[in-house]
This record gives sequence, structure tokens and C-alpha cells, in this order.
Amino acid sequence: MNFKIMPKAAFPGWVNRLRDHHRVVGPKQKHGQYVFDVIDDVADLVLHYSNSVLPPKKYLVPQKEVLLNYRLDGSHLEIATEPEPTVILGVHTCDVHALKLFDRIFSQGFTDQHYQAHRESVTLVSLECLETCSANSFCRDMGTASATDGFDLHMIDLGAAYAFSVGTEKGADLFKGFHQVFDALDSDLAVINETLQEKWGRFPYRLDFDVQEMPELLKASFNSALWDELGQKCLACGSCTQVCPTCYCFDVTDEVDLLLEEGQRVRRWDSCQIHEFAMVAGGHNFRERLAARQRHRFMRKGKYQMDAYGMVGCVGCGRCARACLAHITPIDVMNELYVRSQAEEAPALAGLMEAPL
Ligand code: SF4
Ligand code: SF4
Repeated sequence: MNFKIMPKAAFPGWVNRLRDHHRVVGPKQKHGQYVFDVIDDVADLVLHYSNSVLPPKKYLVPQKEVLLNYRLDGSHLEIATEPEPTVILGVHTCDVHALKLFDRIFSQGFTDQHYQAHRESVTLVSLECLETCSANSFCRDMGTASATDGFDLHMIDLGAAYAFSVGTEKGADLFKGFHQVFDALDSDLAVINETLQEKWGRFPYRLDFDVQEMPELLKASFNSALWDELGQKCLACGSCTQVCPTCYCFDVTDEVDLLLEEGQRVRRWDSCQIHEFAMVAGGHNFRERLAARQRHRFMRKGKYQMDAYGMVGCVGCGRCARACLAHITPIDVMNELYVRSQAEEAPALAGLMEAPL
């Protein structure tokens, strides 16, 4: 692997150079939490941070995005894409894995040109986590506590310097004309190896089974009584899906001016946990019950996305656990399903099919 070394003292100067030609965003502290935001002053950038409230996906799939501008008389139709060259700094590896999943989702079948335009405008500089960043995260179990691809540059904190693994030409270009970055020596590689090996002792396992078993466990748990129990606790607020780096459902609406002359087609983040999500024409709601929505959410994460895209749809960031006022956490749900599967609850309920939820 191709590593570069940058002394930490040179890092602020490098970030300031990036700002000459890019919007630079990264983690900042805000109201006691961390958010990804534009870095106007490099002193605001915090690279040792607990998971951000929202993942950096908001720069690739914005919460609200205009897709089309048009005139109702048909004289004008314009696809709205205005991505600006952006460097996202300090992305945790769980979020890198989430964006790898997005790359598959938004390019399978019809390529989503808005996502693609944002993706091409973004240069991703990720950061190796050297310790678990929150009590809610379970990235080691999900295989996302490190990354070997999916980034343009990947940083490792070596104490007095940063090591950068160069993933793409776009990443390498960020060093052009900057002279305080050096090829790694054998002694640097030894420190990198030691740093990477030592970190694992700071990442506990929290899942009581191997993640490879998750799709089968969920399949066998389709009729578990746990979904009803979760449905009784859930407030249907949708916070869990809003903060999730792998949730991508959106709603599309047309917003037309009062004179009925001009309009915009807009998409906004949606949530499978809210009541209207599965409502269709005629008023029928095919996931009316909270239990059905909870089951759908966990099936999406642990099975359906694996079936469709070959990757588990949860990266173990723990954001949903932090956001949930009802204290519903994926690690508790998955481990409880596992315990019940061991007690052979599933065969006892095998007669119940989807209809009761
Ligand atoms: S389901 Fe929860 S833990 Fe998993 S990726 Fe989404 S927010 Fe993170
Ligand atoms: S955050 Fe918790 S209470 Fe809100 S919809 Fe998600 S599971 Fe339900």
C-alpha cells in the first residue's frame, strides 16, 4: 500500500490550501455534539470525535434536494444539479462502508444522476478509528472498524504525524504542490503496522453471534414476538432512520407556484418508521402497525440489503441507538433475536405469517 507521511504541524496549512479550490467539510463540535459542517477555520476541525449526529451522507444525498425545475406550459425543463468540489475530512470507517453501500444502491439499475454528480464532486479523506468512538457502536462486529478501500485518502494518526494511504488519483491530487508530505520510510511502516495492530484491543465485540449469520437469523425470526414488543415501545418518530448512514429512502413531491406557472420536483429524506411511509392510493397502509415497521427496519438492515446488494445494511455506528428515545438499539435487538432463536422460539411461532403484523 502507498503511504505518505505528513507532520501534524503541517496539517493546518494543507487544509487551508485545500480550501482554495474546494469546499472543505469535516467534524466540528456543536452544542456538545459533533456535526459535519463547512470548515472555515481549521481550528474548528475536530478529528478525535465521537460519531457525528448526522453522517456525511448529507453531502451525497441532501436532506432536501431539488431534482428538476420546470414551467408548467412545457417550455422549460431543467435537471438541477449544482454539486461543488468538496473535500470531506475525517470520515470514520463505518461511514466509508456506508458510502460503499450507497455506491452500489445508487448505481444498480438506473444510475441516480444526482447522487453520481455529488459523488464525483466529493473527495473522501477518511480516518482510521484507533478506539471505539461511542458506547453504542459495534463496528468491529460489523467488519467496519477499518477500511482498505472506498476512500480517496485514508489518514492514520501516528502521534506526531499523520500517515495517508492513497486510494485514488483524486486523493493523490490533494497533495499536488504541497511539499510537506513525504513517502513513508520502512520505520514509518513499522509504526503504522504497530498502530493498526494495537487498536483492536480497544474495540470490544458486542454481537453475540457472527455477522454472517445475521441474514439467516432474521429470516428465521420473521414471526418473532419481539417485533410486537418493539412496536409497543416505538414512538414512530423516525429519528433512527434519519441519523442512519445506510438509510436512503426518500419521498418526491412537486411544488408548484400559486400562479401555476413554475414548479420544482423535490426529494426529501423519508422514514419507514413513520405512519404514512407505506400508505398507498386509496388510503391502504401495508405497514400500518408499528411492529411491522420495526420488523421491516431490521430486515432491511440485516437481510434485505444483503440479498439485494451483497452487503449488510448496518455498519454498527450506533447513531440510531443514541437517537432513540425508546431505547431500541440494534445490538439489543439482534442479540435478543439470537437468544430466542437458541431457545427455538421461531419454530413455535412458525404458523404466524406476515398478515398479523
Ligand atoms: S442501523 Fe443504527 S447502528 Fe446500524 S448503521 Fe444505521 S444508525 Fe448505524
Ligand atoms: S428512534 Fe426509536 S422511537 Fe423513534 S422510530 Fe426509531 S425505534 Fe421508534
